Amino acid sequence: MSESYRASLRVTELDEYGLPVEPEPLPPEPPPGFGRMSRRGLITLAGGLALGGSAVLPGMFAAQPVNRLADGQQVAGQPAIYDCESWGARKPSSPVKELDDKPSKIIVHHTATTNSNDVTVPDLGILARSIQTFHMKTNGWIDTGQHFTINRGGLIAEGRHRSLETLLEGDKFIEGAHCVNQNESSIGIENQGTYTQINPPVGQFTTLRNLCVFICKQYGLTASDLYGHRDFWDTACPGDKFYALLPTLRSQVGQLLGEKPGSGKDRGGDQLASTAYHQPSWPLLRIADKGSTVLAAQHLLRGAGVTSVPADGEFGRATADGVMAFQRQHGMAANGMIGGGSWPLLAVPVRIGQGGERDAAVHALTSGGKRTWPGARLPSTITATEWKQLLSSAATPT
Ligand SMILES: [Zn+2]
Repeated sequence: MSESYRASLRVTELDEYGLPVEPEPLPPEPPPGFGRMSRRGLITLAGGLALGGSAVLPGMFAAQPVNRLADGQQVAGQPAIYDCESWGARKPSSPVKELDDKPSKIIVHHTATTNSNDVTVPDLGILARSIQTFHMKTNGWIDTGQHFTINRGGLIAEGRHRSLETLLEGDKFIEGAHCVNQNESSIGIENQGTYTQINPPVGQFTTLRNLCVFICKQYGLTASDLYGHRDFWDTACPGDKFYALLPTLRSQVGQLLGEKPGSGKDRGGDQLASTAYHQPSWPLLRIADKGSTVLAAQHLLRGAGVTSVPADGEFGRATADGVMAFQRQHGMAANGMIGGGSWPLLAVPVRIGQGGERDAAVHALTSGGKRTWPGARLPSTITATEWKQLLSSAATPT
């Protein structure tokens, strides 16, 4: 591959406002020998790496994204998506499960793999096959876990078989394996890369936005139905930087969907500003975090019986150990982080003034007991909704 071609695929990062930090790169030229495996792909094939049982040979990549229903009808507005057949997916180990319903949300992930600049169509095939192999061979799943995969060049591959077919039909979807407790209600999108410290490339973000718009239209979802993995599980996914862009993503999706001010769920005001798309969310707490949310978590852990945890507002080793004990108690993978998996279990209803650890947790989040929050008095009983609001509006951990 020539240096100039590689240069034209340079990936441009987004800044914190979701704007390109450099001018948009030129659209890529069609790769030389479009439809064949790249030289690197051939080497990978020869080495037998990451390809599992899928006998994909050079030239087998169909390289034609699918955008029509089985009866040949085009579906308006569909972004180009490379289906399982085009990238040489292995067959699922048992039939994928069709859910006779529409999903209620979209969950955004990052793959937590290197921020590769190998972004051609053949590279997409390599990525899709390596994820499928990992999910089937290492995780023991029946197929790729997520419904769609977007590479850093902004190309989309179908993940789990039949995800595309059901999306085009728009009245059912395929059960995924990408987020515990949400696999029967959500579409999962994996974005290639690791976005803990850098933003996703513009092309990838734009493709994600367009794919989300299409999914929302097909299934009747709104921009506020977009979430990150950490909203539902104790994980850093999709990375701090990508997660911070979700209000921007919702705002852009909302604009493209033609959402009008005030039309979103549970919200008034200007829907078109990204601030209007900031939704209350469980904060992700990890070792070395400090502050009122950490202190509240410590009180809630103590209230749940994990009394080895100190109540000092510092997420140290003892707190992480306590979190792991709590996670094991609840049959969860113990990783010592508190996110959308542990919070709903910790944040049980509490009556203000009842005393004890849980009351102390409320106290920690309300500036020493000032019982006000967004302009109103706290209700006498704090339920999950209020917990999430309080934790969201408390100081960001430092
Ligand atoms: Zn994830």
